[in-house]
Amino acid sequence: METIYFDNNATTKVAEQVLEEMRPLFCELYGNPSSMHTFGGQIGRRIRKAREQVAALLGCEPTEIIFTSCGTESDNAAIKGALAAIPNKQKVITTRVEHPAILSTCRDLESSGYTVVELGVDKQGRLDLDELEQHLDDDTALVTIMHANNETGVMFPVEKIARLVTDKGAVFHTDAVQAVGKIPLNLSTSRIDLLSLSGHKLHAPKGVGALYVRKGTRLSSFMLGGHQESGRRAGTENVPGIVGLGKACELAAQNIEAENSRVKTLRDKLENTILESCPDCRVNGDPENRLPNTTNISFEYIEGEAILLMLDKYGICASSGSACTSGSLEPSHILRAMGVPFTAAHGSIRFSLSRYNTEDEIDYTIKKMPQIVNRLRDLSPFVAE
Ligand code: PLP
Repeated sequence: METIYFDNNATTKVAEQVLEEMRPLFCELYGNPSSMHTFGGQIGRRIRKAREQVAALLGCEPTEIIFTSCGTESDNAAIKGALAAIPNKQKVITTRVEHPAILSTCRDLESSGYTVVELGVDKQGRLDLDELEQHLDDDTALVTIMHANNETGVMFPVEKIARLVTDKGAVFHTDAVQAVGKIPLNLSTSRIDLLSLSGHKLHAPKGVGALYVRKGTRLSSFMLGGHQESGRRAGTENVPGIVGLGKACELAAQNIEAENSRVKTLRDKLENTILESCPDCRVNGDPENRLPNTTNISFEYIEGEAILLMLDKYGICASSGSACTSGSLEPSHILRAMGVPFTAAHGSIRFSLSRYNTEDEIDYTIKKMPQIVNRLRDLSPFVAE
């Protein structure tokens, strides 16, 4: 049975062209870019090219890119590095729907005396910018608000937010791990100071990420050691990963508009047909401002995990809005923050597509979904007779 992969917000397949670009860096060009000899020195050129490719996708200068090991590291480096460079301010603003890479890092700051404000969202997962403005004051060092939500795909108006925040003299960071490669970005005309991305979300391998640092933004190095990345991120570079990330960014940049609209058409077909064929289900998240590849659907009266297991039997990979922690199924903090009722949050499934998905895969899945949902509801003790 072929696998149908609709879990691209969790991780993506490495593109063949990316793998080909990386291959020589393992056994042929394996030198250390910091070495004095020509063999190692030539690797530096590969890193320079990758930096240019990443910068081209983001519309920024290559010198504004720091390579890291993942999105989590980029998020940590942005928050801790920015705050260390602004020791006289003690307030950080974020949202309740961030990825744990942001939320845990921010919550940890409270033990060091920081005030952390977590903004709520409405039922559609949208922020209230007036509330943000009310919290912005002279003590605000940093605002970190994600670009696109990993579970619902809801996109926040980060350009507008960047203007509000930087007008008040605070630094603005956005976790764009789910946005980069899926929607066009142009940082040359943006007020965003810091932006995180992760290779494995855009068809590069796991173990590489990047942090955009706008020219002039003060950032203390949070990894200490050697002088790599112009002294901004110590540690011998993951050269194959960096080269792979560069190629993945080049591929994403080539076709971003066309791929977006193709993926969106597939996502909409999947979503609309499920809504029509399965009663008592609804989409979670702002339908207007959403990533083109993501849909998060709640099915009343059944557990998301049960749906996932049945999808899995048919070779279909998706994910649920619940996380199995300490033996109990906890609905996701994101759906809870949106006020999604407990039962609907429990029955939520995320389908996240990529450019490798086909219409045949969508057609197969929309045939299976009503069968799965009806079968599970027949077994459910919650469905009214
Ligand atoms: N931020 C968001 C929004 C994410 O979705 C993820 C991963 O799922 C991360 C950060 C962490 O990225 P990484 O897995 O590269 O550490």
